[in-house]
Amino acid sequence: MSQTYRITLLPGDGIGPEIMAVAVEVLNVVAKQDNLQLEFQTALIGGAAIEATGEPLPAATLEACKQSDGVLLAAIGGYQWDNLPRHLRPETGLLGLRAGLGLFANLRPAAILPQLIDASTLKREVVEGVDMMVVRELTGGVYFGEPKGIFTTETGEKRGVNTMAYTESEIDRIAKVGFETARKRKHKLCSVDKANVLEVSQLWRDRVTAMAKDYPDVELTHMYVDNAAMQLVRAPKQFDTIVTSNLFGDILSDAAAMLTGSIGMLPSASLGSTSLGVFEPVHGSAPDIAGQDQANPLAQVLSAAMLLRYGLNQPAAADRIERSVLKVLDRGYRTGDIMSSGMIPVGCSAMGRVLIEALEQV
Ligand code: NAD
Repeated sequence: MSQTYRITLLPGDGIGPEIMAVAVEVLNVVAKQDNLQLEFQTALIGGAAIEATGEPLPAATLEACKQSDGVLLAAIGGYQWDNLPRHLRPETGLLGLRAGLGLFANLRPAAILPQLIDASTLKREVVEGVDMMVVRELTGGVYFGEPKGIFTTETGEKRGVNTMAYTESEIDRIAKVGFETARKRKHKLCSVDKANVLEVSQLWRDRVTAMAKDYPDVELTHMYVDNAAMQLVRAPKQFDTIVTSNLFGDILSDAAAMLTGSIGMLPSASLGSTSLGVFEPVHGSAPDIAGQDQANPLAQVLSAAMLLRYGLNQPAAADRIERSVLKVLDRGYRTGDIMSSGMIPVGCSAMGRVLIEALEQV
């Protein structure tokens, strides 16, 4: 009898339930093919959780995630919750989940697929061959640093405060993920900071530089974040692995995402010091197209592949999913976000059906 893997599904809001349904179908087919026992449980997060329980991350959800072998998340958020107090907003649920599971590293691959070069807004010669991994620190920095809040000054004026802070150990553990990731790729690591202005970045640069001696096979460079933003659109092929802080990584990984043509194609993995990770698309809940069967489910499906590869150590099943995604693109199927002339337009559920067909052939 093979091992049973418990997977917690967090469909969340907006297009989340639609793209999650496709990913679960794909996982079920792959499980059958590879004789894996996958046991799914669904839990609430984000706006859906606020509606049902009054809070964005119910204790039962965090507990279910802790008890599982992997968490597959879709997306959270929507305009109707934007004006709630900060601690009740959907995003707070997501931050709480990452913190509660100790997930301090977010791995975001951005590789251009040959079939989608024309979906990029940049010129073919700039993006052809782009293949990078952004390693973003996830549980520290300005999103978590104290003090934070909106305070009233002595003159009665309001003052918004966030604090960008990193300890040496927080920097060291993410730098290590950066070096180890670079080692599995092209042995090139670019650490992005703002050390010319921020003390917290100076400490970041010092620690990353100190760690480089343990990785003589990895070529380390440093870049200021403003230059990195520029270089990402000017000459993105220069990057292999990027390691950076929470805020800078949030922004740069979205820019890297757009190099590939669509945010609807990009998966990510959030990892900590155990094998329990959260696997989720880079994109948000796309409320503008929610419920219209227009969403691209491929980032969610590729997140399921990352769950199999990094979370459950099932690389063959992950490979099969990734090959089937390439196959449907080869056959010309495109959702609206990656559409180009001459291709076959499909919605979210139809993309799911052609994926299942492809899976049965790879
Ligand atoms: P978004 O990623 O949801 O959407 C940006 C644009 O990309 C929209 O035009 C959307 O239609 C499109 N898009 C996104 N995913 C797509 C897909 N799979 N297929 C086709 N098109 C897709 O970002 P946003 O509009 O800035 O945010 C919307 C909501 O999502 C907000 O509430 C925000 O807080 C939340 N959000 C959540 C996450 C997350 O769950 N990790 C990440 C980012 C934003």
